[in-house]
Amino acid sequence: MKKILVLEDESNIRSFVVINLKRSGYEPIEAENGTMALEKLKVNPDICLALLDVMLPDIDGFEVCRRIRATGSKMGIIMLTAKSQEIDKVTGLMTGADDYVTKPFSPAELTARVDALIRRLGVDEEEKAASEIVSGPFLLNTRNRTLEKDGQRLKLTQIEYLLMKLFMENPGKAMSREDILAAVWGNDFKGELKTVDVNIRRLRIKIESDPTEPEYITTVWGYGYKWGY
Ligand code: CA
Repeated sequence: MKKILVLEDESNIRSFVVINLKRSGYEPIEAENGTMALEKLKVNPDICLALLDVMLPDIDGFEVCRRIRATGSKMGIIMLTAKSQEIDKVTGLMTGADDYVTKPFSPAELTARVDALIRRLGVDEEEKAASEIVSGPFLLNTRNRTLEKDGQRLKLTQIEYLLMKLFMENPGKAMSREDILAAVWGNDFKGELKTVDVNIRRLRIKIESDPTEPEYITTVWGYGYKWGY
């Protein structure tokens, strides 16, 4: 069950929200002031979304929001605002909240916003995971077609990028020059197998610490190459 922080000092509103979240299949974590909310976040690092009331007896909801974002957290944040001035503050101050709901709100309205934000966060995570291939010190991003080694961007040609993608998607698999040529240059390419060797030699200079002793793209003698990581 997904944990949702409910920061609200008015106990009747808080229990109303809690009941409705439970009914929708969430696990609410309650807090009645800002300090308590920050404590609950510390002991529940798996909270994926926070509902933050703005007017609180100690630190206000905007400050709680700022402190959550200051930790680098990407959790979903919905502000519960009472007045139109507070909405202006949400949009004007850019405190890092994803959405806001104005009081009084209906259970349906609140859970619809929560569901929508949870879905959005989930999709973002999946997309990010699907577009990144990690192998050893390398991070290949297939969305913007970039390669990093130890966090440093390496400049690749499109052919080199496609070679890296092929290797990183097939760790440990010996691939013949013919396979590599077909996968990277396409089946219609009429070039020589030597094209593969030339490009791999160039790629090794960019990615290997010592291109004469390659540890990532290793040679499979008499056959082709393999991603040795
Ligand atoms: Ca309040």
